[in-house]
Amino acid sequence: MSAVNVNCPYCGEDVRIEQADDYAPEFHNCRACGRRFIAERRADGVAVMKEKEAPCLSNPECREIETSATCEE
Ligand SMILES: [Zn+2]
Repeated sequence: MSAVNVNCPYCGEDVRIEQADDYAPEFHNCRACGRRFIAERRADGVAVMKEKEAPCLSNPECREIETSATCEE
């Protein structure tokens, strides 16, 4: 784990987060506005996204759904 500072995509607050060493996106809660955002580690730093704006690949919940329900269409 390594700690990085990001800016909340909703209110711009400086938020310190613990980011896992792998590149999986994770949810974090802003301590200022309390809303949930996604932080995704990339080669050039950490990207933050609003939950609704994140592509499926960057949304931990969406990834779970896709991998656990592959044969149900
Ligand atoms: Zn915020």
